[in-house]
This record gives sequence, structure tokens and C-alpha cells, in this order.
Amino acid sequence: MGVFLFDKIIFGPVKSRRLGVSLGINLLPVDEKFCNFNCIYCECGWSKDLKAQNIIFHDAELVIETLEMKLDEMKLNNEPLDVITYAGNGEPTLHPKFDLIIEETIRLRNEFFPKAKIAVLSNATTLHNAKKVAALKLIDQNILKLDSAFIDTIKLLNAPQGKYDLNKLIAQFISFEGNLIIQTMFVKGTYNQQTVDNSTDLEVNAWLQLIEKVKPKQVMIYTIARDTPVDTLEKVSIERLNEIAEKVKAFGIEVQVSG
Ligand code: SF4
Repeated sequence: MGVFLFDKIIFGPVKSRRLGVSLGINLLPVDEKFCNFNCIYCECGWSKDLKAQNIIFHDAELVIETLEMKLDEMKLNNEPLDVITYAGNGEPTLHPKFDLIIEETIRLRNEFFPKAKIAVLSNATTLHNAKKVAALKLIDQNILKLDSAFIDTIKLLNAPQGKYDLNKLIAQFISFEGNLIIQTMFVKGTYNQQTVDNSTDLEVNAWLQLIEKVKPKQVMIYTIARDTPVDTLEKVSIERLNEIAEKVKAFGIEVQVSG
């Protein structure tokens, strides 16, 4: 199994399969994953017990200064930029100064690349935090994870550390009033002698009911593209992803498929 960790705060710009020309920002440590999920398909490898990790986050000031220098350099070189993307070695919203960093990112984006978007790829576990939600609501690409409508499947696929209340999560999604993108990883295979498949009709129909309720402005559906911690997982076929996409489109919601 290969593990992929970002070794810097800023990475790229890279041509992202989902977002276009993207400048990535990793708010998590550069040598360690830090996430309150432990997805069996995570490209960063297995998560550790959060409480046992002695994490030192990058100073918010350092992140902002580093971003400012990079945007300045890109502008001087006439480089294109579609999106500034918060992702990296774990869950970006766990950074204690996430809200401040987002506010400063908006200021820098407006100064250097006013047409660029700001994206946050999040597992949506910090939506109980009013400050973080307020920051997220200021940006236009909240890409929030929802892999299943069944808690047992979420436990198997995402293994949340701590409480995970699906009903509350859906209410939190609805509070974004459409300013969110739902990201769903479809995957199948086996794990711990159990069958894993969130692309069955039963799974997809229940997930579609939640999509209809939440009314996101877009849904991103994708499948594994790199090595995963569990080597008994398989891609879901592009044909099946396209079938699922058609069902989402029937609600009038835009869909992006990455097979
Ligand atoms: S939420 Fe993202 S970073 Fe966290 S374990 Fe899942 S895939 Fe990895």
C-alpha cells in the first residue's frame, strides 16, 4: 500500500480532476495525517487516535504569509488559477484558526485572483461549530462528504472517531441553503470479512433521498484513483457512476463524475 502525504503547506498549482487549476493548501502537519475519520479508501493511509496525537498546527500567520507569497509569484508570472483548495493530510477544518484563515484567504483571493474560487474539501464533522460554519458559508465551494445514508455503512467506510449523527448532519447541510457540493466516494470490495459496496440500488436510493432533501448546487461522485490502505477494494465502474449521476440530474442538480 502506498501512502500519499503532502510535504508542504502549499502545493501546486496542479490540474485537479475535479476542480481545474488548483492551488492546494495543507493545514495539517506535513509528516503526519490528522483526521477524525479513518476512511478505508484514504490516500493518506490510516488515521491515528486523535487524542494520542500531539499535533502542532502551522501558525495561521505562517499559512497566510506563505499563501500571499505564492499568489504574488503566480500573478507576476501570469499563471492561471481556478481555485484555492483546502485539503491535504487530513481534515482541514480541524485547524483551530480555520475561520481566520478562510477570512484572510478571501482577502488575498480578492487582491490577487478575484475570479478564483475558494474550495474546502471536508468530511463535514465540524459543522456543529458556529465559527467554522460561518467561515464556510463565506466561500463558494464547500465540498462536503456524504458516502452513505446508512450509519452502518458510514461506520464501515469512514470510521468516524467520536459522535456522528446523520440526522443532525443533514439538517446542517440544509442550513447551507444550496451553497454546498456533496462529494461521495463510491467503492466496493471487502474489509474485515465484510462486504463493502455503497453503489448498490439499496444504498444509492437511500442516498438519493438525502440528496433531494439537501439540494446541493452540485454533487461530485467519484471512485478510487490511487492506492488505498485496504487492498481488497475496487473501483466502481464508470457505467455505474454515470447511472447514479443520471438519477441526481433528474432532481435538476449538476453532477461531476470522476471515474
Ligand atoms: S475524511 Fe478524507 S482525509 Fe479523512 S480519512 Fe477520510 S478520506 Fe482521509
